[in-house]
Amino acid sequence: MLHALEQILLPPRCLVCGSIGQEEICNDCMESIVPVPEGTCPKCGIGDIRSCTECDWMGSLDWLRVAARYEGAAGRAVRNLKFQRHLELASPIGKMMKPLLADVPEFDAVIPVPIHWARLSVRGFNQAALLARAMGLAPLPLLVRVKPTRPQTQISGRERLVNLEQAFRSRSEARGFRVLVVDDVVTSGSTMEACASALKSAGASWIGGVAFAKTQFHT
Ligand SMILES: [Zn+2]
Ligand SMILES: [Zn+2]
Repeated sequence: MLHALEQILLPPRCLVCGSIGQEEICNDCMESIVPVPEGTCPKCGIGDIRSCTECDWMGSLDWLRVAARYEGAAGRAVRNLKFQRHLELASPIGKMMKPLLADVPEFDAVIPVPIHWARLSVRGFNQAALLARAMGLAPLPLLVRVKPTRPQTQISGRERLVNLEQAFRSRSEARGFRVLVVDDVVTSGSTMEACASALKSAGASWIGGVAFAKTQFHT
């Protein structure tokens, strides 16, 4: 009875567009999410996936796959998860990321990109950790964000690398591990690279990354 009343007063809504529907992300929103252009290097979004040299600057990150372009419903889904606290969105977003795991070479540990404790205390959750769990993975806290940084989306180019210098520190337990780093959004790739660099400094042997969406593609 109570449930029926709730259904009338608070019908389920798409948490992305607000339309009344049965899912966290309605079919229209789901269909509008644009996958990564086929054949494009997912590390940089510029070159060909087989022979890209544009992302040679990412010397520590060995592998990266992203599910969608960060635009339209994909962008709104991430922003509504993070800033509107619609944590229920982690499940459908994680579901869209899960097929990426079919291609990933073997790994020993899963590490969500950490957020600084000061931001964590305000937000109350790390969206990357939620997405890792939604993919059925068990994250390990082997990486720490030791420096608060400005959001990468607010700054450009070279500033991003400077912003992230020394931002992460890896625990020594990562030594010898093949690590899969999980994040919600990849912008230039410099956050993933900074995580990979910290992990390799601690002795990790291989670093791959998976993220839901990437902001820049040249095609
Ligand atoms: Zn919708
Ligand atoms: Zn590339």
